[in-house]
Amino acid sequence: MSVITRERAEQILAELVAIPSVNPMDRPYTGTVPVERAVIEYLEALLTPYGVAMTRQAVSATHENLLVTLPGEASGPATLFEAHIDTVPAEDWPDRAFTPRVEGDRLYGRGACDDKASLTAMLLAVIDLLESGSRPPQPVLLLAAGDEEHGQSGIACFREAGIDIARGIFGEPTNLAPIVQHKGVLRWDITVHGKSAHSSRPELGLNAIDGAVAVIGALRAHQEALQRDYTSPLLTGPTLTVTMIHGGRIRNAVPDECTLSVDFRVPPGMALEAAHAAVVDQVSRLGWQVTHHPPQAAAPALNTPPDHPFAQQVLAICQRHAGSGIRLEGAPYGTDAAWIADRAPALVLGPGSIATAHAVDEHVDLNEVVTCARIYREILLANPLP
Ligand SMILES: [Zn+2]
Repeated sequence: MSVITRERAEQILAELVAIPSVNPMDRPYTGTVPVERAVIEYLEALLTPYGVAMTRQAVSATHENLLVTLPGEASGPATLFEAHIDTVPAEDWPDRAFTPRVEGDRLYGRGACDDKASLTAMLLAVIDLLESGSRPPQPVLLLAAGDEEHGQSGIACFREAGIDIARGIFGEPTNLAPIVQHKGVLRWDITVHGKSAHSSRPELGLNAIDGAVAVIGALRAHQEALQRDYTSPLLTGPTLTVTMIHGGRIRNAVPDECTLSVDFRVPPGMALEAAHAAVVDQVSRLGWQVTHHPPQAAAPALNTPPDHPFAQQVLAICQRHAGSGIRLEGAPYGTDAAWIADRAPALVLGPGSIATAHAVDEHVDLNEVVTCARIYREILLANPLP
């Protein structure tokens, strides 16, 4: 009997949600082991009875991956399945975020959807293969990755290892629609410099907040120009969003500095460096003295051609299990998939909706987790197309 059942999905997902694996994000981390360690120990205990090879990848003092390897009928490049095991914090619902609760078909908790639902579906698919003795045509790698939510250092560490990959499925909440394209992101700070003065004599100073307002205006105008030039059936245009602003020192002085944090979402086909340079150029035309700080994050876009045989193969499998209305889609958010996309075709596919991810009362429909496990299983057993 198959292990891909609603009961088993509920059990594994609830157990995973009950193990906090919160990414400290920007804040200092005081733990003595990587934030993902307890989840990794759970996975090791779950899979040890099947005798599969498992390797912990030390990413940093804060983060860790677990790589599980299943042999295939043939050797050669592997099919990579990846789900991340860190979550965003849950400070806005600490009373119940790590106490999984089931209401009807839904399981609630931090990570229930993003990304422990995908991980659960992958585990069910893999355990089902192991228990039934079915061997996939190619070796399978299951990567439980750390630090997807902040630095994406887990997938970067995997990438460094240079393991040969034939194709990749990255589990994220896509409501079972395969994502072929998503944007890249560049985040950096811009400090506008002015000159302080007593606020009763502002004419003696140079107000850096006024400069920041001018920079925001230039960013908006640049975004509009970029959006006019960019069209895609799958994606919205580039966006430049100011996400944080810090300026001024005291209430009665003209501020000498104001710093803006910029989040630049860059569609496929637009090189990050050139896109960044164009923003720097636009800002420089304002005549204000500014400093562009080194990027805090720089992640590439995903750009798998919709007509790629792997994309079409996965689409057909998804339609068979989840309905003929399933289409290949694009997404505005970034994922780990982009980090291997220059080496192998990669798709993002998983249960749950991005709309509940990172939100209070994050949840997933357990039936969708089960359907996704069946889809993953079929992808694992499918022969690669030429
Ligand atoms: Zn995620």
